[in-house]
Amino acid sequence: MRTKSGEFVLPGDALGVTEEFVPSDWTYEDEGKIRSLVAGTVSVDQKNKRISILPRTNYPSLLKRGMVVFGQISEVRGQRALIKIEGAKDSNRSLQTSFSGGIHISQAEKGYVSKLTDEFRIGDLVEAKVTKIIGLDNVDLTTAEKELGVIKAMCTNCRHFMKKLSKNETICPNCGRKERRKLSSKYEG
Ligand SMILES: [Zn+2]
Repeated sequence: MRTKSGEFVLPGDALGVTEEFVPSDWTYEDEGKIRSLVAGTVSVDQKNKRISILPRTNYPSLLKRGMVVFGQISEVRGQRALIKIEGAKDSNRSLQTSFSGGIHISQAEKGYVSKLTDEFRIGDLVEAKVTKIIGLDNVDLTTAEKELGVIKAMCTNCRHFMKKLSKNETICPNCGRKERRKLSSKYEG
């Protein structure tokens, strides 16, 4: 399994192994293999050991590993919080495709987390960093950095925005309820 520059590939085609190459634009990692996300032409950068794809179609936008995105929590399951991504920070281009992201409980913050609902709740606005591209419109995210996490928390009782009380605690100015969150150091309000 070794593709060459110029070769035409389809979504899911194996391009190389992560021991040898770094996945770059329009590729993703899958159990040690680098695969193409889209139909297009392979570009192998031997010097920097990067494999990328020049897509056949012009896709309107692209999320990359390491980008900070913002969005709203749409669901909190046992091990995973789901986010509807609304945009990438420090980017003028808005995302014209809708992306969804997931934060695994181990990526919510540094250290042990027993309940994901102590970190995020539905409706919260968050900033998170892309750690892995899973599909064309799906990424894995982390908030385990000081400046990442909830930037606006919503009261689960009355849906008002919460005020920051301490590093990990918020209070509702409307009903007085206190709730825990993984707050960003840039929490607004
Ligand atoms: Zn409230």
